[in-house]
Amino acid sequence: MKRFLLIISLSVVAAVVQAQQIKMPKLGKELTSREIVEYLASDALQGRLGGTKGDTLASDFIYAQMKKLGLNPVKQEFTVKRGNVVTFNVYGKVEGSTGKYIVIGAHYDHLGLGGKEIGSRRPDTVAVHNGADDNASGVAGVLHLAKHYAKEKNLEHGFIFVAFGAEERGIVGSKHFAENMDPKSVVAMVNFDMIGNLRNNAITLGGTGTAKEMDDIIYWAEKENWNALKITRSAQGHGPSDHTSFYAKNIPVFYITTGATEDYHTPDDDSYKIRFGGIDSVANFVKCLVNQIQKYPQGLTFTETGSPEASPMRGGFKVSLGLMPDVTGQVENGLRADMVVKGKPAHKAGMKNGDVIVQVNDIKIKDIEVYMKALGTLEKGDLVKVKVLRGAEEIVLNVQL
Ligand SMILES: [Zn+2]
Repeated sequence: MKRFLLIISLSVVAAVVQAQQIKMPKLGKELTSREIVEYLASDALQGRLGGTKGDTLASDFIYAQMKKLGLNPVKQEFTVKRGNVVTFNVYGKVEGSTGKYIVIGAHYDHLGLGGKEIGSRRPDTVAVHNGADDNASGVAGVLHLAKHYAKEKNLEHGFIFVAFGAEERGIVGSKHFAENMDPKSVVAMVNFDMIGNLRNNAITLGGTGTAKEMDDIIYWAEKENWNALKITRSAQGHGPSDHTSFYAKNIPVFYITTGATEDYHTPDDDSYKIRFGGIDSVANFVKCLVNQIQKYPQGLTFTETGSPEASPMRGGFKVSLGLMPDVTGQVENGLRADMVVKGKPAHKAGMKNGDVIVQVNDIKIKDIEVYMKALGTLEKGDLVKVKVLRGAEEIVLNVQL
């Protein structure tokens, strides 16, 4: 019965998709971030699941854009072992004088029509998961920078601009890419993952503990960018995205995101919700970052950041409350739960989307960093007192882990 229903809904989806074909934008001009996101996230590409036709169309589109910019792009084919799926990374280079490169990347794949195995948060809904924020926005960021540096003649370090396939299948594309390059030739890697929702000019900058020179680089980059963005730092080089593949090769990394929204991994992550101007603001900040990296012709001094904990999105802790926190620091003196996952401990205790966590046991929660430290003190089976603000009301929830 279930299967029968599934088949019916699949064919309904297919019909809807046919009716909404978006034409590939003309390649005669350089595209805006809006045009790039709207095409990649259109229903016509069916959610760009690795190995599908939509996935191939997306990679062809990125290839064509890079070619237009004069980057001499390469489509690097690889196979995802699970499911035996063939897909691609697409990359193009700009040469500098040191013979080394700064890699600027973002994954272009997404969840297709959804489903449990692929990580949809609405596992029972069969619908195009457009992936506008995750991560058409990141691809737009990469192409924005590619456009800027493509014709640059006097670079110290060159650039490799890359769109990774099969991130959603376990950062497979970036791993393949990192394993097939010379790590000594890469000065640093910048990863955009979800930069389409810039709110209050706040971003999270991950990887800030991965090189000795990072503090200086960030300090001057913020100055160069007129402190236009409010930056929450996170030291870790590991995380739930492609930069991890480079960090694993002892390469300093930056992970740039405007944070998960409540539409994360649902069919509602679509173009009409994207803040296109924000994509360019984020990319412009990264321009300042890489300009600072250029001041180190010898490269950077890699530093380790410890174990792969502290990923606010996919966990890695011994315990989790089962919520997606606001990583952009919208609230002062507290941490907002943007999305409380149904059936998980926080939800069972009565937490609601939008609640602001202000205390976990005795620890006052002022921001995400304190929250993560607080999580580190908890064990499975603990009964945890979590104080939240819901509007003006203060509520204490008993969360059973
Ligand atoms: Zn992503």
